[in-house]
Amino acid sequence: MNVGIRIPADLPAAAAAYAAAGIKVFRVRRNKAPYANCPRCDKQSSLYIQHRPEGCQCGVPTCHGFWAATTDPTLIHRWWKEEPDANIGAPCKINGWAVLDVDPRNGGTKSLQALENRVGVLPGTTMQVTGGDGLHMLYRSPGYDLPGEPFPGIDFKHNGYILLAPSLHASGGRYQWAGGPEFFPPTTAWPAALLPRKERPAAPVARPAVRSRFVIPGGRTQGRPRGGRMWVVPDLVQHVMDASEGNRNNAFFFAACRAHELSEQGLLDLHEACAGLMSAAASVGLTESEARASFDSAATRPGDRGAA
Ligand SMILES: [Zn+2]
Ligand SMILES: [Zn+2]
Repeated sequence: MNVGIRIPADLPAAAAAYAAAGIKVFRVRRNKAPYANCPRCDKQSSLYIQHRPEGCQCGVPTCHGFWAATTDPTLIHRWWKEEPDANIGAPCKINGWAVLDVDPRNGGTKSLQALENRVGVLPGTTMQVTGGDGLHMLYRSPGYDLPGEPFPGIDFKHNGYILLAPSLHASGGRYQWAGGPEFFPPTTAWPAALLPRKERPAAPVARPAVRSRFVIPGGRTQGRPRGGRMWVVPDLVQHVMDASEGNRNNAFFFAACRAHELSEQGLLDLHEACAGLMSAAASVGLTESEARASFDSAATRPGDRGAA
């Protein structure tokens, strides 16, 4: 049974409550400036010893940002005694979470709508309203890498961290759990439809018929998915994520060509498309240099465009 954890309204007590429930937390300054690493962990220091944060053995419990996250009540007490106003950060993957982060200021609400039109309404789960009117949907980590920012205004937060209620947002609002002061650790799995295709279960979840629009025949319809709607960045990203293993390069090049065409017509932001596609490329296993070269060549070889 999923028991809610009552979260006190003040930050030090809330941090302790999360930790007592087994959630690893760490301090985050209001301005997000990181706390200093010890000299052995500080790349600028002459005493620096090269190592990865996850393998750190310096013994100082505050090094490496969210890698310092802990459930140790003594350390948490000390941190928030020193800085009672510090926000509460929680690393996502380390806590077993993958978080869909919707930022309405950057078009996230529209992207979420486009996403749900395509894959169906996302499964209900633990949600947090960020102090800046954004939304966090917390799912259980799929155990695979996810693209970081696949759509405008939407992040898949997995390797990073989120702030937890009642942290204070830069805009002055407080983070809050949807539905009240209780936090329910997420029990719903990350939606399979949002995994790169290679990581999806063999027996796929039912897909809406509308997905067939991603099978684009040659000819005059190339600027838009079948059905007449214009390609938008999420479509291009999905096209790459849906490609079968042997077809990833082609699918990426095809999407890059559409991106360049549409941006030449002023119908799409090339920078956004590039960010989304590079992110999708990484999640399906293309290297950054491969993807970058392909994206650039799509711009300079219009004669080849359409060879999907
Ligand atoms: Zn250190
Ligand atoms: Zn270290």
